Amino acid sequence: TKKKNVLICDKVDSLMLDELKKREFDVNYEPEIASMKLKDSIEKYDIVILRSRTKLTQDILEKAVNLKIIARAGIGVDNIDTKYAKSRNIQVITAAGSSTHSVAELNVALAVSLARNLIPLDINSKNGIWIKDTGFELSGKTSGIIGFGRIGLSTAKILKSIGMEILAYDIFENQEAIKEVGGHFVSMNELLSNSDFIFILVTLSDSSSNIIGEEQMKMVKSGSFLINTSRSEVIDGRVLLNYLESGRIKGYATDVLWNEPPTEEWEKTLISKPNVIVTPHIGAQTVEAQKRVAEYTLNNLFAKISE
Ligand code: NAD
Repeated sequence: TKKKNVLICDKVDSLMLDELKKREFDVNYEPEIASMKLKDSIEKYDIVILRSRTKLTQDILEKAVNLKIIARAGIGVDNIDTKYAKSRNIQVITAAGSSTHSVAELNVALAVSLARNLIPLDINSKNGIWIKDTGFELSGKTSGIIGFGRIGLSTAKILKSIGMEILAYDIFENQEAIKEVGGHFVSMNELLSNSDFIFILVTLSDSSSNIIGEEQMKMVKSGSFLINTSRSEVIDGRVLLNYLESGRIKGYATDVLWNEPPTEEWEKTLISKPNVIVTPHIGAQTVEAQKRVAEYTLNNLFAKISE
């Protein structure tokens, strides 16, 4: 049988390359491929493997006449036009669960960094400015988790052990999971007005795009901290900027931006604020998670091929 042509369009763990090459695949590794080049060359591939950088929009997928499987080496599929893929019978697989611990640990690190003002204090200390700043404990405070899925639960377990109360909002209320952390499902408004730390861990889709806009921001408890490691598009960024400037939201920590890297002026203004922490989409960027991403993606891919 003819070898399957595989295109890998983002940087992946070497384990994935090695495993694919060992099997019946012709692998083309182009971790920096531009969308124009992708559009021009995608017709020859049976399988495309990508992370979050590459966008598989309809105009690109229309050229993918031989494509059978899109493998997202990661979690969110918001960078793939899944509706169009489905209409063409192109299967989409992911590495669900592979980075849960890594993202959960990052969430807690970002929350503590905001509460103790760690980043500005580090910069000050290195610049010879030795000034103490008074922060807050997480213990005894309330966490509100928007999107109580895998990462939501894993984060809540750590927060619970620190001594926090857990509130959660989700369209699907996993009662067993919330029981594990002694928390409660509440409405979005109840969550926003009662939480000291709000974690946004919801999947980005049409239903969650801009779920935090002006109306919701008005409900946020004054002086609360916001942590987002899911996708920026769930928040109206310009509204967030206003609330950060007014001090109503005390700090924002994010691993995701509207444009990665940022391009818009308001976006650059937002991330330049001293009460904003930004990391360059590193939620799954640990040795352990990257290895798991490669393993889960390949297992799911091989299972799909042998169906
Ligand atoms: P998951 O599917 O286990 O959980 C997502 C939860 O969101 C589900 O419980 C779902 O019911 C809920 N949800 C979906 N739409 C909703 C809506 N409109 N309102 C309320 N709740 C809604 O996924 P997960 O593994 O916990 O990952 C969550 C998200 O984190 C991913 O979709 C991805 O975007 C992001 N993520 C980011 C990184 C990173 O590097 N920063 C890494 C992994 C995942």
